[in-house]
Amino acid sequence: MDYGMIGKIEKAKRYAEERERIRFMSFNVTFDGDNNPHTTTYENGEWTCDCSFFGSRGVCSHTMALERILAGMLPESVSTDS
Ligand SMILES: [Zn+2]
Repeated sequence: MDYGMIGKIEKAKRYAEERERIRFMSFNVTFDGDNNPHTTTYENGEWTCDCSFFGSRGVCSHTMALERILAGMLPESVSTDS
């Protein structure tokens, strides 16, 4: 392996420990719930999910789970974790 690549791998390891460097702007995932898979989307600071609970409450176990997984990597305004 060339010296330049070794340096990049070392930097990647350090970056991976510094989650606050990363901000997710948008993504969508397939979330395998206990009963059905759901499509959960994050776009411009807004969550959407195709489950019925999200439809009535605007938040659900899927969006809350993703907020926990991505802690520190989403804009502050969307975090419901206190
Ligand atoms: Zn959901």
